[in-house]
Amino acid sequence: MKILVIGSGGREHALVWKLAQSPHVTQMWCAPGNAGIQQEITAKTEAPVECVNISAEDLPKLLAFAREKKIDLTVVGPDNPLALGIVDFFQKNGQRIWGPNQKAARFEASKVFSQGFMEQYGIPRARGGTFADAASAKKFAESLGGKCAVKADGLALGKGVLVCANVGEANKAIDEILVAKAFGAAGAKIVIQEFLEGPEISLHALCDGKTAKLFPTSQDHKRALDGDRGLNTGGMGTYSPTPFLDQAQLADVSRQILGPWLKGCMSEDIDYRGILYPGIILTKNGPRVIEFNARFGDPETQVYLTRLENDLVELLSASVDGTLGRMELRWSPMASVCVVMASGGYPGSYAKGKAIGGLDAAAKLPNTKVFHAGTARAGDQIVTSGGRVLCVTSWEKDLKSAQAAAYAAVEAIHFEGAQFRRDIAVKGI
Ligand code: AMP
Repeated sequence: MKILVIGSGGREHALVWKLAQSPHVTQMWCAPGNAGIQQEITAKTEAPVECVNISAEDLPKLLAFAREKKIDLTVVGPDNPLALGIVDFFQKNGQRIWGPNQKAARFEASKVFSQGFMEQYGIPRARGGTFADAASAKKFAESLGGKCAVKADGLALGKGVLVCANVGEANKAIDEILVAKAFGAAGAKIVIQEFLEGPEISLHALCDGKTAKLFPTSQDHKRALDGDRGLNTGGMGTYSPTPFLDQAQLADVSRQILGPWLKGCMSEDIDYRGILYPGIILTKNGPRVIEFNARFGDPETQVYLTRLENDLVELLSASVDGTLGRMELRWSPMASVCVVMASGGYPGSYAKGKAIGGLDAAAKLPNTKVFHAGTARAGDQIVTSGGRVLCVTSWEKDLKSAQAAAYAAVEAIHFEGAQFRRDIAVKGI
């Protein structure tokens, strides 16, 4: 099979790495990819994975490329092309593609839609309201004592959520989004949710329109600094499994959340084929969904795919074909830890083009894979080219050993200004 992966981050490197191991794959491309993806080789045919310089949002060029290369399956990583309707566009033009269609991707592309859906179908959720005018939004925030999350409706590069501790902060957040239009059209409407307390976990379920197969749990670290301080980021590290839910509790969460979610999809004629990734807070009153994403998490993917024992091509094909019901997901009992190395200054402004050293030494470490996120080639060097640069991932018999292995690999790698958290997985240990 010829496969095209769309995207350029650590998630896409993990997808390419895992897909390339499948004996079904003969040739593989990634658009636009990164310097690490370019180093992957397909296991069966030993063909180098080629990166093609087409943006993940340039749907006509992506389609033309898929046609030219006679791609058998296109795999979409990021949220933007899904929200733009890449799946509908490819399917209309006879191309086989994995990911939710535009209607299904609304679970991530519109928080107003998701909040309404959760209310309608009785999914355990953060209590909330939807607003287009500032005055009624402020009244609602006040009724929550100002302790709330104010969320822009649409996609805002992961920055559209403002967590507020009091009425003053809530009013400022509401004005920023609805009046000053900080997120443009993505903030024409907002959702305000009650602020929930408890451990936050990520769930992933692979869906085929009828069935949802739940992954083990993982936990992201959103804040930039140790101890969950500093600014929100795209994610500074993950680990899996987490100790917060045992198998029986996970099955219960699945019943409470995925049960009504699937029923709702049937009623609304939403044909969801792809990953559903709910963000969940485990409150003392039970699990509550705070948001849905319609794609693999980044960096959750890095820990999941280093634990997944199935052939990923077979799983994604079953998700496209509606035959997931027959498949069983198999997970390694090993724990996996991913530490993100970011550019100095991230998530604020940062310099690019810093030479990265130590990658060869890190590649020799056992049970370790350095997934690239923001990297590029400059001559014979690999240099930084984004905020999150590398996702250093190790898997071992337990979390503590996996954590030690990941940090040993981090120590082997260096670039000017490198910044990373030193407490990834501590909450799980
Ligand atoms: P989201 O993009 O919706 O995941 O929000 C970003 C972060 O804000 C989440 O990872 C949570 O840490 C926090 N957050 C969002 N909604 C809530 C909520 N209702 N209560 C508490 N924290 C929240």
